Amino acid sequence: MPDIVTNHGIIKTPALIPVVAASYGIWDKWIGGDYVAPWELSQGVILSLYHILKYPYRDRILKEGIHDVLRTRNPVYIDSGGFQYMKKGVELEPVEVLQYQERMGCDIGITFDFPILPDIDDVEKEARLERSIASANIMLQQKKTDMQLYGAIHGSNPREITDYMQKLDSGFSGYGIGSLVPRKNHLGHLVDMIHEVRQQTEKPVHCFGITGFPALFALSYLGVDTFDSWAYVVAAAFKEFVHPVTLSRVKNIKRVDSLPPCECAICQQYTHEDMIKADSDSEIILALHNLNIFLYEMKMIRESTRENNLEDYIEKRSQTTNKKVRQAFRIARDKLVQSTS
Ligand SMILES: [Zn+2]
Repeated sequence: MPDIVTNHGIIKTPALIPVVAASYGIWDKWIGGDYVAPWELSQGVILSLYHILKYPYRDRILKEGIHDVLRTRNPVYIDSGGFQYMKKGVELEPVEVLQYQERMGCDIGITFDFPILPDIDDVEKEARLERSIASANIMLQQKKTDMQLYGAIHGSNPREITDYMQKLDSGFSGYGIGSLVPRKNHLGHLVDMIHEVRQQTEKPVHCFGITGFPALFALSYLGVDTFDSWAYVVAAAFKEFVHPVTLSRVKNIKRVDSLPPCECAICQQYTHEDMIKADSDSEIILALHNLNIFLYEMKMIRESTRENNLEDYIEKRSQTTNKKVRQAFRIARDKLVQSTS
């Protein structure tokens, strides 16, 4: 699994790329430098164009570039926001999305897409897949800078994924697999889809919207290079603390007597009390603890992958995590065994 080389340095894979936003509240404080920011802790971050264009930072980002506004020298991805735009019933012109990504100076842009949901009919699904393909190809053709462009890929089954990828022009720097969000709890489906994509390309594969550890472990095992997640902030908004040993979420931490011990830098500096207040400082502190746990696990996954030891690591780690980690991993392992036998 090769590293990803960008204009702002290297991302060692597999890697978790936290989703961040340039909006308000906690993001204002992070952008203002009040707390260590997600982009200082991780190897890179990803923003959705949707969460840039709607908010006042938009003008500064267009003028100064995304790296200067976040004050980071690490790689930045900008997703097209296709998923969010779909939910709002709004569409953007693919070339306009490309121009925004290039102007904002991101290292890796992802093509504008028309995600498919499990309940749409076949005619509509076919139309959306065709539009996503056309959008990706036109963006690749119109690209003017050295920004890397990842083709967003979709499909509701492995055969559709193969057809889709064959219709994409060559020349994409990598691929981002979407339409997984509404199905994220169906691990068998997720495993089949990711396995299919991995068979089709050696280029970096990015997996959108992964919320839980079971999928992180299982999909790393299948060879996904990068994941994005904003589970760390969503959990914090719900006052959930990611347990450093079981990796389950300790819910409603206002009501528990104490939190499990944690060795992360945040937990050395702040207390349970600091995490339960109803303000954005408290939310930031809790989010940073959660992010630390995600990044630490990802680092362990990466190191064991590099030592060719991931299977043993996951088996061992899943003795103390919640059961779903082992279940998901075994689904992934069975898939690999099947396909090579
Ligand atoms: Zn901690």
